[in-house]
Amino acid sequence: MMHPYDMHQDIERILVSETELRRRIEEVGGRLSRDYAGKRPIFVGVLKGVVPFFAAMARAVQIPCQWDFLSVTSFEGGTESTGQLTFRKDIDHDIAGRHVVILEDILDSGRTLKFVKELLERRHPASVRICTLLDKPAGRTVELEADYVCFTIPKAFVVGFGLDYDDYYRNLPYVGVLKPQVYQD
Ligand code: 5GP
Ligand code: MG
Repeated sequence: MMHPYDMHQDIERILVSETELRRRIEEVGGRLSRDYAGKRPIFVGVLKGVVPFFAAMARAVQIPCQWDFLSVTSFEGGTESTGQLTFRKDIDHDIAGRHVVILEDILDSGRTLKFVKELLERRHPASVRICTLLDKPAGRTVELEADYVCFTIPKAFVVGFGLDYDDYYRNLPYVGVLKPQVYQD
């Protein structure tokens, strides 16, 4: 019998389990609901890695809110940043006077979120805050902190729950460290 390729065999260790993800997202979603009560915020997801986190967080938030998405890219097909930021897709909403919460999968060097935050701030929103699933403070090269962090993680290249290597592994249900031999070969 043919066995499908098992993605899990490429994972060295699980950093954040499905249960931990669910519990913590519920918790932070509760905080967002309280902080933004009556403010009708607009959640802006940074594609594509944010998709599973965005979906989970959107259900955890219990207040009226709108959704939008933008797309930038800081590196492609590798595990190191290239220094090139490309703006691929803009949001659809006019955010002037609105309370904006940027959702992102991971805050590493900080360059992506700094770029996105400054871009949105130029459009005169009432406020802009950042909510990230993962924070890797050891990777920081620019001064930027998130307002809401679900998990702080050590310096390692992680995949799963939206995070990719060469656009693969996004569908893993947990966040795990990719075996270095996967990207060193
Ligand atoms: P920054 O601009 O903060 O350096 O990087 C943010 C982007 O880099 C994230 O949106 C993500 O696409 C990518 N990134 C940074 N660290 C990792 C990681 O450990 N794993 C994966 N898959 N992507 C990462
Ligand atoms: Mg990303």
